[in-house]
Amino acid sequence: MIQLRLAPLLAATVVLSAGHPMTLPAQNRHARPSPGLDLAGMDRSVKPGDSFFEYANGTWLKQTEIPADRSSYGAGAIVTELTDRRVAELIQEASKGAAPAGADLRKIGDYYASIMDSAAIDAAGMTPVRPLLDSIAAIRDRKDLARVLGSTLRADVDAFNATDFYTENLLGLWVAQDLDDPAHYSPFLLQGGLGMPDRSYYLDSSSAMASIREKYGQHVAAMLGLAKVPGAEARAAGIVRLETRIATAHWSRQESGNVGRGNNHWARVEFGTKAPGLDWETYFAAAGLARAPRFVVYQPSAVTGISALTASEPLEVWKDYLTFHALNSRAATLPGAFDREAFAFAGPVLTGAKQQPDRWKRAVAATNDALGFAVGRLYVARYFPAAEKARARAMVANIIAAFRSRIDRLDWMAPATKKEAKAKLAVLKVGVGYPDVWPGYGGLEVVAGDAYGNAERARLFRYRRSLERLGQPVDRAEWVMTPQTVNAVNLPALNAMNFPAAILQPPYFDPRRPLAMDYGAIGAIIGHEVSHSFDNQGALFDATGRLHNWWTPEDFKHFEASAAQLVAQYDAYRPFPDLAVKGRQTLGENIADVAGLAASYDAYHRSLGGKPAPVAQGFTGDQQFFVSFGQSWRGKLREPAMRNRILTDGHSPPEYRASTVRNLDAWYRAFDVQPGQALYLAPADRVRVW
Ligand SMILES: [Zn+2]
Repeated sequence: MIQLRLAPLLAATVVLSAGHPMTLPAQNRHARPSPGLDLAGMDRSVKPGDSFFEYANGTWLKQTEIPADRSSYGAGAIVTELTDRRVAELIQEASKGAAPAGADLRKIGDYYASIMDSAAIDAAGMTPVRPLLDSIAAIRDRKDLARVLGSTLRADVDAFNATDFYTENLLGLWVAQDLDDPAHYSPFLLQGGLGMPDRSYYLDSSSAMASIREKYGQHVAAMLGLAKVPGAEARAAGIVRLETRIATAHWSRQESGNVGRGNNHWARVEFGTKAPGLDWETYFAAAGLARAPRFVVYQPSAVTGISALTASEPLEVWKDYLTFHALNSRAATLPGAFDREAFAFAGPVLTGAKQQPDRWKRAVAATNDALGFAVGRLYVARYFPAAEKARARAMVANIIAAFRSRIDRLDWMAPATKKEAKAKLAVLKVGVGYPDVWPGYGGLEVVAGDAYGNAERARLFRYRRSLERLGQPVDRAEWVMTPQTVNAVNLPALNAMNFPAAILQPPYFDPRRPLAMDYGAIGAIIGHEVSHSFDNQGALFDATGRLHNWWTPEDFKHFEASAAQLVAQYDAYRPFPDLAVKGRQTLGENIADVAGLAASYDAYHRSLGGKPAPVAQGFTGDQQFFVSFGQSWRGKLREPAMRNRILTDGHSPPEYRASTVRNLDAWYRAFDVQPGQALYLAPADRVRVW
């Protein structure tokens, strides 16, 4: 899956995609004027067999400087910038138009305009948040505490589709198909309640983390001070102590990524004995979940630990904690001083961003967040013609067919495993561009000039829509990404994928150029996503979405052995004298890159239907395919970002992703690659996992 880390929006960092995200590199500022390969960006003085990445991108790499406010830049960034500008135009048009009250267009316009109107937000002062603060101040006992905590629950997490484990509320709700009973939705409860992104920020002993913690304490005090809470510093210390205890109960990010461990069913009536402390019946009643018979408790020991803290920690500390989070999570729609303070911590301290994005960009992001599919509908109507959808669909069909033949040709795989793999392929539901049925916003009230209220209602609307699903049949056509998102996602339990319209743009996809170039770029990405359904994570879910490993042990062992070859290949990449790429850490993504490129190459030839490939820009069809692939990974990173990527990311840096080509025999033929060249691999060392 592709992964993009979006700029912090209303407070939390949004991290998109599931278990195997595929980080897109960034790209140059100007849109490419003419369709086809970027010949000017190549460096033909470099032999393709020595560095395919530089051959495809060398001049661009030399001429492009990473903008001062970024840590990396390349192919993904320009597409995102272009898309955001287009979306902003559409939204601004909506805000100027005279659409009737209640129409989506009017809601989009009013939502955006209300966030842009910082003068109105400042003038409203603390008035909008006052009722919430009063309800916290009125807490007299643990039952009141449970009621207020329950009223904060929102549908703001996602365990393995969009994969977002973060919520500032004490717990988060995700309504998704049950892993034991894939035909029905279940309510998943996830851990939450931290103001910093992860438990390690509270518990890690490094000096860097200690410094962030110190600044966090100052930030908590500053927010309380802005709200004129007396004794802010002492209260802040108590809040941070409480959050540190919550963090101690939390699962790590890596533990949370283990879907099998998260599949724990608790009856509602069992919570009191399994996780004593919180008045669960009051909590669930306030959350509108009093009738849900059972839950999937994704991180059970965390829920137990958090529940115990609601009984053991002083009520006054809990009230301070709720007050701080009421302000912190709503800072974007509170007076400017709150907004600036929230950024001063979330920006420079947490992400290194030095400057808050322009207000219009944040208003676009917030409108996308609240009314994303209504905005997406406008985007698709203007920028994604039906012919493009048909072209992308035909590519998907060819790539799946190519994948099926590759499964047939695997000599090591048992017939039983092949049968399961092909059953999964047969049910794969691939969404292209936008959903078949658009989610509506009829129940969402948007009031002109009420930024705070609109944001509250949008969150509540999403929550209620999630609750309404309980008891309904599972909708496999559901989309988790809006069409204007430059990204793609594999939804492992649904056996479904979303390829939004916004990633179907150059340099990934362009109907004006030969198909070879599309197969080399978006085709390889589609193949990458398809192959994730068949890797170590995909092996956990069968064709129905049930959590059930369908591999024979012998086949899985063979899969691992081929994988070991790939580990060695990537371990040998050494961008710094003291640091090599981690072949094991990046294995799943590297397998997907190799399998995706190979399947897309086969699919490209299938699309030719026996006819010779047309020459374009002086390149043969196969050359176009590979150069387009190399250019789709165009990107550069600053050294600290590169080191961080290598240490923490599941994906290899862009240069090595472009080097995937060395595993395909066709690449050697296309560029006459010879022994002795840096990327040359003897035929036996070229890895074919699928
Ligand atoms: Zn991936």
